[in-house]
Amino acid sequence: MAPRVPDPAELARGVLAGDRTLLARAITLVESSRPDHQRAAQELLLELTPKAGHAVRVGISGVPGVGKSTFIEAMGSTLTSRGHRVAVLAVDPSSTRTRGSILGDKTRMPRLAVDPHAFVRPSPSAGTLGGVARRTRETMVVMEAAGFDVVLVETVGVGQSETAVAGMVDTFLFLTIARTGDALQGIKKGILELADVVAVNKADGPHERDARAAARELAGALHMMTPTSAHWRTPVLSCSAQTGKGLDTVWEKVTAHREALESGGELATRRADQQVEWMWQMVRDRLMDRVLHDPATAERLPKLTAEVRDGGLTPTLAAQQILDVLG
Ligand code: GDP
Repeated sequence: MAPRVPDPAELARGVLAGDRTLLARAITLVESSRPDHQRAAQELLLELTPKAGHAVRVGISGVPGVGKSTFIEAMGSTLTSRGHRVAVLAVDPSSTRTRGSILGDKTRMPRLAVDPHAFVRPSPSAGTLGGVARRTRETMVVMEAAGFDVVLVETVGVGQSETAVAGMVDTFLFLTIARTGDALQGIKKGILELADVVAVNKADGPHERDARAAARELAGALHMMTPTSAHWRTPVLSCSAQTGKGLDTVWEKVTAHREALESGGELATRRADQQVEWMWQMVRDRLMDRVLHDPATAERLPKLTAEVRDGGLTPTLAAQQILDVLG
């Protein structure tokens, strides 16, 4: 017999009262892919959504090794010591529970993991980017309803995950390390276009000068690009997550960016746009899911694929046939 489905109303009360056990259970419900859990999760989210939306949402991206977890540990602890309540979530479609998730892993943020004013949630287990992003967005709603006023969403700067994260936060912080000249070209232009704040990490000891030089060079590169907002120019800073130097300035810029969006009236529009984009993303995901798993279409897919491959059928006709079967 399937285990009992948690009661959404009871979970909602627990979340709103700040009960950490029920909060963890609510997130587990949201992450579950079981259809009955999904239905209960949507009921829960309907109750919690009006109570969410008050947090500062920050995306933090950078390639593995750049210092994201060290940065989040240091920044998160500073913020909780100033009275904030900090949630750390992750979008990492490559992680699996069996391997131990790459991001959000509690052992990577030992201080925050035991901080009563913080909540570190490991990345949901591997899945499609769409699935992982949905769970993270919904977890964000739960965390905000529980009173967390800063949500940090971590992601690796590879693949499309940073675009997904940029689509769910107010401010997107790109972390990098000193690279100059040709190495600078290695930083994808796409990610710089998403960045609202750029920080060159590991600006300490013998690397400090290189980090500052890299920051100047990056600032030059960014100057040529279209700004993320009419009210904002992306600053490039240097910092050390290890010594803490420069972290205050990074946070000041993050909050300044949010204030710029807010006073320009862009924050509300951006968030509303993100909700609508999320709806369309769900439509795309569900349609694809039906195409791939509906028995009627699934049965025809191998033959249609082979015919398109051989040139016996045009891609357009094949697509039409798939959609016709779907009805
Ligand atoms: P992540 O993969 O991006 O999360 O990177 P980590 O936070 O795990 O850091 C990777 C390595 O860089 C670790 O050995 C850290 O101790 C080190 N590291 C992180 N931040 C700094 C920094 O500001 N300065 C120096 N020197 N090392 C750092």
